[in-house]
Amino acid sequence: MDHSITEAAMRLAAKLVLLFLVGVLLIVLLFAYLTIQLDRRLALAEHQRHAAELADAVQHSVPPATVNSEGASPLRDQLGWKVLQFQQSRIRVVQVGSGDESRRPSVPAEMIVTRQALTTIRLPDETGNDHFYTYVPLDPLRREGDASNGSPAGADLADQSSQEQLEISSPDPGAHDRVRRSILSSLLALLGVTALSGIVIIVGGVRMVGRPLRQLIEKVQRIGQGDFSEPIQLGTSDELASLGEAINQMCTRLEDQRHQLESETASRVAAVEQLRHAERLNMVGRMAAGIAHEIGTPLNVVSGRAELIASGQLSPDTIRESAKAIQSESQRITKIVRQLLDFARPSPLHRLRQELRPLIVRTAELMEPLAAKHQVSIHLDLPEGDIHAQVDSAQIQQVLTNLIVNAIQAIGTQGRVAIKLDSVSTSPPDVSTHDRRPFCRISVSDSGRGIAKNDLPHVFEPFFTTKDVGEGTGLGLSISHGIIQEHQGWIEVVSEEGQGSTFSVYLPGTQNQTSK
Ligand code: ADP
Repeated sequence: MDHSITEAAMRLAAKLVLLFLVGVLLIVLLFAYLTIQLDRRLALAEHQRHAAELADAVQHSVPPATVNSEGASPLRDQLGWKVLQFQQSRIRVVQVGSGDESRRPSVPAEMIVTRQALTTIRLPDETGNDHFYTYVPLDPLRREGDASNGSPAGADLADQSSQEQLEISSPDPGAHDRVRRSILSSLLALLGVTALSGIVIIVGGVRMVGRPLRQLIEKVQRIGQGDFSEPIQLGTSDELASLGEAINQMCTRLEDQRHQLESETASRVAAVEQLRHAERLNMVGRMAAGIAHEIGTPLNVVSGRAELIASGQLSPDTIRESAKAIQSESQRITKIVRQLLDFARPSPLHRLRQELRPLIVRTAELMEPLAAKHQVSIHLDLPEGDIHAQVDSAQIQQVLTNLIVNAIQAIGTQGRVAIKLDSVSTSPPDVSTHDRRPFCRISVSDSGRGIAKNDLPHVFEPFFTTKDVGEGTGLGLSISHGIIQEHQGWIEVVSEEGQGSTFSVYLPGTQNQTSK
């Protein structure tokens, strides 16, 4: 991890530096080119100045003479086609244009003949060494001065002789040197910049980018795991530090929002729990009538037997028998009251893998008094094998109680409620996949009045009730729906008006396990 970040930072820095180096290389090349050009121009100017002085000296050293019949200048007359050597410079008269090609030294083709100005060109000789050639038009004034004593053809002749030029050539020994020096200094500059770039890659890439980047990545990973603690401290004041600061601020805001969300969720859960508990108590209220009736019979037995004992007319055997009856009836009362209290008591949420069969039996027993009051029989159809599910028993008991109370109320008087438990392999209704999984199904069917077609889609909506005020709140089924959803299951209903209803609860579970 450490390595890859360092490598990535170095690669990034290397890429940037490479780009930078290409730029530097271009600048160095341009600079070298300009330096060579400037040097060449300076050397040329120097040669030109030297050539001009020489040409002047040479022309003035020759006395003016009359233009001869060939139209040649006095200097040509004196020198012929000979070559003068002065230090490193060679001087000669050359002729451009028509004439006797065999006698005349050739003039380079590149030469531009001008009358007024000096023309200097640079050409390599046979050995490849550069030479400057400066061409000076032979001073026409000097010839015109001599021809002015009356010759009308003087001007024409001057035109002809203007083909003659003084050529001053000298070697340019520094040419190769200059190029070499320039290339060398460019190479040195490039080497220096490359070395500096290497240091930038190591120091900049690893220290200035790699390390802070690693810290930033670690921080972001911690955020991904929900850990907003330990603000990042990069110890620099660059853009990465600004990014770190922005991440710290983001963490603070996320932490605040998380606290807010947690407290909102906690109050929402508490509100839901309170509502569920209120509904349980409401259910207890609905069961109370049945329980009062259920307790009434044993209480009568207890009080009658007690009266008999108190009369003192009973034989010891009958007293013993009456006492036993009192004991068994009061145990029955205690059991009913304990079951009711258990149901009404708020219990902390506790989901455990447990058998559903005993849970259903317990709930049916609790509902027996109410069912008896309405002359409703409760039938259980529970399989032999154990069916387990991961459930909160108090919550599931609340759901079943609600379904049974509704069933009894739908029957009114005289009828039958059937509770069936089985395992099915099916797929949840609201998911796109059709993968079948094992589910435990608890069905509560009744022979009641059924649900009207129009009401059927609304029965799970909160506050939907068809019962009179005081009889129903319309919350029972919506709370049951929420509880079953929290258990990753679902609840569905099949009903027809006048034909009874069947509510089925599906809970994720395992099939027919016998393990304890
Ligand atoms: P409540 O029982 O307080 O009305 P519920 O949410 O438990 O609230 O039920 C909503 C409505 O669904 C009931 O008012 C009733 O009309 C209908 N209902 C529920 N269970 C049955 C049933 N077994 N038979 C007929 N109707 C039912």
